[in-house]
Amino acid sequence: MNPLDNSIKFVSGVGEVRAKLLGKEIGVHTVRDMLYHFPFRYIDRTKVYTIGELNEANTQSGYIQIRGRVTGKNFFGEGRNRRFVVYISDNTGRAELIWFRGIKWVENKFELGREYMVFGRASFFRSELSLVHPEVEPVEVAATRKVQCSMQGIYSTTEKLSSALGTKGMYNILAKIWENVKGKVEDYMPDYLRNKYGLITLEQALYNIHFPQSPMMLKQAQYRLKFDELFGIQLNIQSLRTARVTAHAGFHFGRVGNYFNTFYNTRLPFPLTGAQKRVIKEIRTDTVSGCQMNRLLQGDVGSGKTVVALLSMILAVDNGYQACMMAPTEILARQHYATIVKMVGDIGLRIGVLTGTTKTKERRQTLAALAAGEIDILVGTHALLEERVQFSNLGFVVIDEQHRFGVEQRARLWTKNNNPPHILVMTATPIPRTLAMTLYGDLDVSIIDELPPGRQPIRTLHYYDSARLRLFGFMREQIAQGRQIYIVYPLIKESEKADYANLEQGFAAIVQDFPLPKYRVSACHGKMKPEDKEESMRQFKCGEADILVATSVIEVGVDVPNATVMVIESAERFGLAQLHQLRGRVGRGANQSYCILMSDEKLSKESRTRLEAMCETTDGFRLAELDLQLRGAGDIHGTLQSGDAVSLKIANPTLDNQVLQVAQQAAIALLAIDPTLAEPQHYPLRELKARFSTEKDIDFSKIS
Ligand code: ADP
Ligand code: MG
Repeated sequence: MNPLDNSIKFVSGVGEVRAKLLGKEIGVHTVRDMLYHFPFRYIDRTKVYTIGELNEANTQSGYIQIRGRVTGKNFFGEGRNRRFVVYISDNTGRAELIWFRGIKWVENKFELGREYMVFGRASFFRSELSLVHPEVEPVEVAATRKVQCSMQGIYSTTEKLSSALGTKGMYNILAKIWENVKGKVEDYMPDYLRNKYGLITLEQALYNIHFPQSPMMLKQAQYRLKFDELFGIQLNIQSLRTARVTAHAGFHFGRVGNYFNTFYNTRLPFPLTGAQKRVIKEIRTDTVSGCQMNRLLQGDVGSGKTVVALLSMILAVDNGYQACMMAPTEILARQHYATIVKMVGDIGLRIGVLTGTTKTKERRQTLAALAAGEIDILVGTHALLEERVQFSNLGFVVIDEQHRFGVEQRARLWTKNNNPPHILVMTATPIPRTLAMTLYGDLDVSIIDELPPGRQPIRTLHYYDSARLRLFGFMREQIAQGRQIYIVYPLIKESEKADYANLEQGFAAIVQDFPLPKYRVSACHGKMKPEDKEESMRQFKCGEADILVATSVIEVGVDVPNATVMVIESAERFGLAQLHQLRGRVGRGANQSYCILMSDEKLSKESRTRLEAMCETTDGFRLAELDLQLRGAGDIHGTLQSGDAVSLKIANPTLDNQVLQVAQQAAIALLAIDPTLAEPQHYPLRELKARFSTEKDIDFSKIS
């Protein structure tokens, strides 16, 4: 058996309890998992700071090491606020070490007057240095510890894990693992490929990623591991692309028929923009190519993706197929349905809608009609994925706001016909092309990079909470001019309760400051019954409410052209992509629109950068690039796709663009000589390929 497959609990110093914790908290079950839990940063453990030289500016990066004598210790607070504080001093100043948990245990570790090495994350309170839950060792003990390398890895961890197993604990486990696996790490990459692409061995890479022997070796280790991830993904993508292009005859939409022409000539309420026309042409080309289309349509909020989707679906109907459109929320699905019904008017297309709240009787009728081919276009939510939803001849699928859908959910749609339908995935989250290529695999990308004419750029302002009176004054002015206003509160899973409390308080305050009969305020959030939500939205949409107080459920797709002000509360808690999405809810009509970001005065550097960026630009692609720089790709990956098929631990497809290019070329070259990795020297690469299998994500054809 490969020693990397051993359970982590058998590594000395781990045991049942810690193994359970490792599994639960960071998904580490085997030795391999642990080896692939890479540090996200390295710090120089040989560097010892004096307390006096540290300040808020030079400790931005977090972890530091100091050395000092214990001058006092004390308990503060009661119950949950109880904490234990140790004061240490060197010749230059004093610092506080603070513990909230495990107090009993640490209390006895400290002797007054004794000197300790202290390692941890620096924070400042009234310009006094403090470290919460640091790692501490008497100076003599630290001196005896063998230092494997000067750069120590810092591992991502969770609160629970870090109190049981600090940086030092992780380090010790990894050191033990190395004693066991040294010389036994098999490399799936044959030597000739390693040499060709200048890669060190897998064992060298895994060793140096945890215990860098030099900055140079660390670089090479990172390169090798990034290469492997991107190469693994590319092996999947490239072989699927070949399979899709050769194996499946896509439905042929050869005809532009009556429905399309009638709609285009008599119903289309506006001329298409150049970008919309271009995308429709791209879709047309795909649907007569003889291959199944698999296209990602990116277009900023408000760029007019819906009508492109509609025209494509009508094209499918003209060619004798059914089409469906899936939206991530009930509100959006209903809105799409209403928009489409209104747009197509009475040209004879049969449009249906199906969501989670569709009543039983209506559902039965819709399902029967669908199976009998009596519905041409079906709009809906996840409800479309259910087994009982059977089409008679599904030829075209539109998925709106892609990032809200899990990969597996998407895969289920393709089972709805014997041959895979053409797929159009639409997203308003701009994704750099390289990233799209990696994350969505075998998708071609279309971009709508032009807004419909006559839109005025949205003005974005950042107010501190203290300027609330000014905000209210501004809101009154806008309402007096007949405009409508959104006020959005953050909703973040971990603090849902607190978030709802904020929303409710905010709502109460607004109702008080904007009293009836002059002002009408409605609310919309996830805790409300669907009917009530619907009713609130309806009131706002048809102008019966002036102000809509909501959580970020309105993030996607809601279209109310008369709304000109988007107020985002606690804006510092939203990500850039989300802020941009929310802003896109206004600026849809002819009037000047505003986005007002409300925040606390105290802001982290990163939050400040985000809010500043929002005020500076309305260009979604620029914001997306910045977002990528501010966060890791792993993070982005998580946001884009819930239920990821692929997990990148070290490569960032955008920042590591060059590695990606090399890996892609390498995959193409390898598959050209050995498409199924059947040669003995390539056989082990199947393991790598399987690890990054994106099948669920992209191979729509396999399932049929
Ligand atoms: P999104 O890309 O965010 O889904 P929508 O499809 O909802 O955008 O379109 C936003 C608004 O722009 C809608 O009110 C739509 O009717 C309008 N619109 C779309 N295309 C055009 C166009 N070519 N000219 C004028 N208005 C348009
Ligand atoms: Mg939309």
